[in-house]
Amino acid sequence: MTGILDSFGRSINYLRVSVTDRCNLRCLYCMPPEGVPQMPHSEILSYEEVQTVVRAATELGINRIRLTGGEPLVRAELPKLIKMLSQIEGIQELSLTTNGTFLQKYALELKQAGLSRVNVSLDTFKADKFQYITRLGKLKDVLEGIAAANEAGFHPVKINTVVMRGINDDEILDFARMTYEEGCHVRFIELMPFKGVAEFVSSAELRQHISLLGKLEPCASITGNGPAIYYRLSGAKGTIGFISPLSELSFCSRCNRMRLTPDGKLRPCLLGEDEIDVKTPLRNNASTEELKRLILKAVSSKPEHHHLEGGNVRLVKRKMSQIGG
Ligand code: SAM
Ligand code: SF4
Repeated sequence: MTGILDSFGRSINYLRVSVTDRCNLRCLYCMPPEGVPQMPHSEILSYEEVQTVVRAATELGINRIRLTGGEPLVRAELPKLIKMLSQIEGIQELSLTTNGTFLQKYALELKQAGLSRVNVSLDTFKADKFQYITRLGKLKDVLEGIAAANEAGFHPVKINTVVMRGINDDEILDFARMTYEEGCHVRFIELMPFKGVAEFVSSAELRQHISLLGKLEPCASITGNGPAIYYRLSGAKGTIGFISPLSELSFCSRCNRMRLTPDGKLRPCLLGEDEIDVKTPLRNNASTEELKRLILKAVSSKPEHHHLEGGNVRLVKRKMSQIGG
């Protein structure tokens, strides 16, 4: 088995690396309209520093890396980082989560640099609603970005959709239908309370609604690959995943991940406040063995579960864009 065992017997094999806190959009559940105070460039890990941490993590058994942000494609020369990481032995999957607005420009370059997969965040198919949710974005850019990613060979592109009651819950079936028509994979994410924008819709309610289209069959083959649970509508090529941090108590027991923030903090749990600084040791020439000790310390301090369930909702201090959602 790959991965690093944590204190609760979970195997941690997945590191989400946030390469920037900056973003060209201001999604209402993620950032205030004016944005958030930006970290100084000097505080953000260089590509060489990211590569050093990732290499140490892979030596310990981490084999899946996802780049995120902020919007990772606003960071200059992201394909250069992809190339640097794709050369590290032991990485089985190197993927990217993006809002898709710059994919048309970069998809081919990212593919050539060694990126394995792309997830695009998209919450609506309606242009005016897209602008309302993202405040600054144009739906057309994302749709063209998804098409460019498919053309570049990232097939199938995965779509991540945050469901907000009264805002986009009327489009659930349109998203679910994409798994028939284009064989694409869709994942519905429960809205987390980083900012009180709307009520979340539970995955159980979504499944019930989607079953209007047909029977949802559990997909055992991909379950076990992290906290999402996957289903397939009979006859559909693509899958429908549900990410249910709020409504499913077993969510955390399937957690296989850790996060590295843009300013070099290892974050054992997205919804916890604990962080372990790797930037200071890195900049003081820490050895690979020292970095590995810090990574092991972060894994062993992963909590058993977060505290958002059961109505115990509180706001997390860092914004999603500053952690790397
Ligand atoms: N900018 C990129 C994007 O939007 O895909 C990557 C960073 S974004 C923080 C990563 C993911 O977090 C996106 O899929 C986004 O929808 C999700 N996200 C942000 N805020 C959220 C919230 N409050 N609840 C649930 N998901 C959220
Ligand atoms: Fe930017 Fe992604 Fe946050 Fe939207 S969800 S504001 S695209 S970082």
